[in-house]
Amino acid sequence: MSARHRTQAIVLKNTNFREQDKIISFYTKEFGRIEVLGKSIRKKKAKLRSFVQYPYFLEIDFIQGKNHKILTDAVLLNDFSVVRKNLSKISIAYKLSFLLQHFIREPEKDEKVWFLLSNSLLFLNKEDFSAKRSFFLYYYFLWNLLSFLGYRINLDRCSLCQKKISKNPSFSLEKGLTHFNCFEGKSISFELIDIFKKMEKNSLEIINEIDLKWKKSFKYLFDKK
Ligand SMILES: [Zn+2]
Repeated sequence: MSARHRTQAIVLKNTNFREQDKIISFYTKEFGRIEVLGKSIRKKKAKLRSFVQYPYFLEIDFIQGKNHKILTDAVLLNDFSVVRKNLSKISIAYKLSFLLQHFIREPEKDEKVWFLLSNSLLFLNKEDFSAKRSFFLYYYFLWNLLSFLGYRINLDRCSLCQKKISKNPSFSLEKGLTHFNCFEGKSISFELIDIFKKMEKNSLEIINEIDLKWKKSFKYLFDKK
């Protein structure tokens, strides 16, 4: 018998595999991102069939098979019903999943990423968290994820000349924050730089303090054009 592993997990996506199976991609507390085979999980009577949807929060058991990890049991911890009922919230939740799938390919335990993901979904799931603000939650997630993965953008010094930025800051996805003279990115205000600093240092509650007027500026900065 192979050893059983148990961990909390959030479903990122599932893909049909062979006739009755699925490959489920999870972000887990203990193992980071893993792909697990759900054997016969597409059968109508399969017990775990309804559990393997994004963004379900589960406790899963699996064993290491010869070619795949194999799901043996799952308990539903949270189905994020508030998120799933709200179009703006669920579309943000999907974007979080895409970001993780894009940036994380290998199984590697990372509790910071785990808590960022699970806490973001739990926060999004609060009835009293306005869907209008879920936009900011996406950027909170993106900003902190990049930082945890080693792509932190320095918010005090120019990424090119390394000197302090005291006027004309410029932002670009390629170079981060620079002097406008060092790299002609998009102009960004110091007020907005302060918001990014706050997002780095504070828990998710900070999202409720960001003025909605900043929405356009966020869009502008992260727009690829
Ligand atoms: Zn510079």
